Order: sequence, then structure tokens, then C-alpha cells
Amino acid sequence: MSRRPLIAGNWKMNGLKADGLALAKGVAEKLKADKLACEMLVCPPFLLVAAVAEAVAGSGLAVGGQDCHAKVSGAHTGDTSPVMLKDAGASYVILGHSERRTDHGETDAGVKAKAEAALAAGLSAIVCIGETLAQRDAGQTLDVNKSQLRGSWPEGGNAANTVIAYEPVWAIGTGRVATPEQAQEVHAAIRAELAAMIGAEEAAKVRILYGGSMKPDNAAQLLALADVDGGLIGGAALKADDFWAIAKAA
Ligand code: PGA
Repeated sequence: MSRRPLIAGNWKMNGLKADGLALAKGVAEKLKADKLACEMLVCPPFLLVAAVAEAVAGSGLAVGGQDCHAKVSGAHTGDTSPVMLKDAGASYVILGHSERRTDHGETDAGVKAKAEAALAAGLSAIVCIGETLAQRDAGQTLDVNKSQLRGSWPEGGNAANTVIAYEPVWAIGTGRVATPEQAQEVHAAIRAELAAMIGAEEAAKVRILYGGSMKPDNAAQLLALADVDGGLIGGAALKADDFWAIAKAA
């Protein structure tokens, strides 16, 4: 099954305009000079999405948001709609990241609604799931991930418009990366659950990214796993050279 790997950078709340533009242009320049087998994506803070999209246009580097509202427009102070993201040049949006689930109380049902709105706006959704350390220690890892997957997966989701990111919460920003065995076990379980949800043929085409302390020195072994189809990268996506090194490993 050929799934084109996706290497996605989640900048989180980092990057002023000059830094963000320099970072994105740095990656875009490399991509123009050296076409890779994988797809590359950067997800800057909202305020930089339009400028970054303009700066990298034509390079093949995709741009995405880190969240969106479930509505197209209206009285929702401080929010950004998926239609606005699309209008600003985004083609993807990250949804349900564990930091949003924690900081903003996002639920599976809320993530699902946002993902459906994103698809309706013509964006691809990257839906994040993952267990906490307490859940892993309690032996609940597979159940937690399957339940989040079922609860967050959008109606109408398929391999062309929806990507799953498995991000064990205990591995995010901690330097503590999942072992290849841990990652493959969960990715395979996610794919099996997807097969039960959308059929084996479609599930075999869905990209499942790993996220959580992916770095140039551990990327190759994670990306080589049978059910790992790319990475959602935080810290290491803030340096063009590190991000590029990870993409080269895909
Ligand atoms: P990290 O973040 O690579 O810094 O661990 C990954 C993420 O949260 O998407």
C-alpha cells in the first residue's frame, strides 16, 4: 500500500513574523531545489498563515492552521473559521491537539464538529489523538486511542481528506519518544479500528502520523515502521535544517 508520507510542522505559539517567514522560506527553498517523496506542511500561528502561504506559494510546501471553529462565521469572538483559513491559503488544519484538549477543554465531539467544518471548507483535517502517561501506565492505551478515534473522526472522512496524528501526550515536548514497538502497536490498532469504521480498503490508504519528540536522530526508525506514514513535529520543526533532515528520512 503506497501512502505518501506527510511531514508536518506544528509551530505552536512560536514565531514572530520575521522568524516565521525566514523559517518557511528556508524550507521552501530546500523543497524547490530537492523534490522529496514525502509531502511537507508547516502550520504557523494564525497571524502568520496568510504571509507564510504567500511566501511559499509555488514551492510545493503546504500551509495549515493549528485549530479552527466549527462554524463558518458569526458571533464567536477570538475564533477563526475554516473558511478563513482556506481563504488565507491554508490547505490543512490540525485539530484536537492534546494541548488544545487540555488548555481549552476540547472534547472528541467538538473535534469531530471542527473536522467536519474543515472538510466542508475544503481543508484536510489532521485529527490528533493520544493517551496520557497515567492512561498508558493503567494499560488503557489502545482503548483510549480507539475511543478518541471513533469520537473525533469526521462524518465523510476518508483517506483523501483526513489524517490521523497519534501523539502520546507523555512524548510531546518531553524528549521522551515512543519506542518503535510502542508506536507501531498503536498505529496498527488505529488502522484496525479505522478498518472497522470505514472499511479495510479505505483504512489502508489513511495516513497515520506519529508525533511526540520526533527529531532528526530518531525519525528514520519511526518513519520506517509499517503503519507510520509521517510525523507531526513540534520543537524540531522550528529549525529548517532539523525539519528538513526529518523529511529526508521519510
Ligand atoms: P514535539 O511536539 O515534537 O515538540 O514533541 C509535537 C506536537 O505536539 O505536535
